[in-house]
Amino acid sequence: MKSKFNFTIKSWQFILIYALFTLVAYNWSLFDKLSTINSSLLFCLGGGFIAFTLLTLALSLLFCSPRSTKIIAIFLSILNSIALYFMSSYNILIDKIMLLNVIRTDIYEAGEVLRLPILWYILCGGILPAWLIIKTNIQFSPLMSELKTRLKLNLINIIISTIIIFPQVQNNIRILDEHKELRYAFVPSNYIGAGIGILKMYDELTRPYTPISTDARVEKYWHNDKKNLFVLVVGETARAANFSLGGYPRPTNAALTPYLDQLVYYKDFYACGTSTAVAVPCMFSKYSQAEFKEGSELNTGNLLDVFASVGYHGLWIDNNTSCQDNCNRIELQSPCTGKFCQDDILIQDLAPKLRSINRNTFLVLHQKGSHGPDYYNRYPQNWEAPYSPICRNKNPANCSRQELINAYDNSIAYTSIFLKNTIDILNQLSNEYNVILFYASDHGESLGENGIYLHAAPYDSAPLEQLHIPAFIWMPQSSAQAFGVDINCLKRQASSRHSHDNIFHSFLGLGGIQTQDYQKSLDIFATCRRTK
Ligand SMILES: [Zn+2]
Repeated sequence: MKSKFNFTIKSWQFILIYALFTLVAYNWSLFDKLSTINSSLLFCLGGGFIAFTLLTLALSLLFCSPRSTKIIAIFLSILNSIALYFMSSYNILIDKIMLLNVIRTDIYEAGEVLRLPILWYILCGGILPAWLIIKTNIQFSPLMSELKTRLKLNLINIIISTIIIFPQVQNNIRILDEHKELRYAFVPSNYIGAGIGILKMYDELTRPYTPISTDARVEKYWHNDKKNLFVLVVGETARAANFSLGGYPRPTNAALTPYLDQLVYYKDFYACGTSTAVAVPCMFSKYSQAEFKEGSELNTGNLLDVFASVGYHGLWIDNNTSCQDNCNRIELQSPCTGKFCQDDILIQDLAPKLRSINRNTFLVLHQKGSHGPDYYNRYPQNWEAPYSPICRNKNPANCSRQELINAYDNSIAYTSIFLKNTIDILNQLSNEYNVILFYASDHGESLGENGIYLHAAPYDSAPLEQLHIPAFIWMPQSSAQAFGVDINCLKRQASSRHSHDNIFHSFLGLGGIQTQDYQKSLDIFATCRRTK
């Protein structure tokens, strides 16, 4: 009778082959990172052997019985192939934030990423190995002999690894400490660790809601009886490097020219995270980048709650992936009902909407901005875009760098038009309101620098392009007078380093909100404002 198995191997042989296959087939990024730290072949082979030792050890613990071994091995192969697709297509690393970003991204954005090539990866890197695993008869020895073999196997590996590490032990510890990216490149431990990190984060869900700044009270210092209208435009994926306001040679912000007198651009402004899922909650949090805990936004009060507590109407209008749990206790409007909309939809009927609210208002406009990889979808197809030819391929690595930058710059130029149109509306309302607009992107973007695309890189090793973001304040003369703010004073201070950490305290200061959570040193307006 023909056997249903084509291959018969002992369990310890299967462990070794599977560990080696995992290392060679799915860990290109790990070898790439090792070679950038030290290009010597010996260093890369040494690093590879240590990874092999760790894999063998983990698999020796996991692969316990013939049936469960096959199920786990097949499951891991498929997940490994998906991880490999994302890592190699976009040159990204996987940590919990990257995984969280994927989970929180809406289906259309996921659809923009998930296309045909991923099926090839799953077929070749997941299904094909799965078929070979099914065809293999894995022989397990009696328990004690199985344990002995595995112990021997791992001891030999550990001894060889120790011999590799030992001669330069200090140096190797330093490398592991300084190059955290190695951990995020190591498949499958990177996505397994990320999954566990997210599960831990969602523990937060069960914690009760904790308000902040419960001592908040308003000390009115402004010199008229108008209502206040504070507008925070949360940009998306705009990077400072491509803003002409910051010195980029292409006039990507030309649309804002009419308002330059009343506009203060912050040239040296940094994001609190490299993905929407982290940076947006952090922007509204009272905590600084260093203190902010991802996931805490689920049950911790934020800037909008503080303003609501002193009587402001909070309104969040969204053209992105909702408000990332920042608007849970205020009004949310999501006017885009189609697959995606251009940002103009955020300001449709904005003036009548605000007039009908008719009280102090904190408005957030959450843009789709320059979200990739399909930058060309961020502006209307019938708009005469200034830069061409553009990249229309959904995998940015398949376009020339110039085509990619052209499409991206068009999205920035369109954001400038959107911001100008928003300011036009607010300018008209400045007779009725003390109005101010604060614009800040959530994070930047990599456009192929060092082969890196998109964003969400681990914060500590993120490229500057993902962290350095555009930010500005627009304040008409009437508001500047009412709040006693000296625009020229702001302009003089605008070249020093600022970040998302400044947003919470600057709005509190401007709104005259007194609370123990307010830090004057982080209030952008504090030293340029007369309070009497
Ligand atoms: Zn974002």
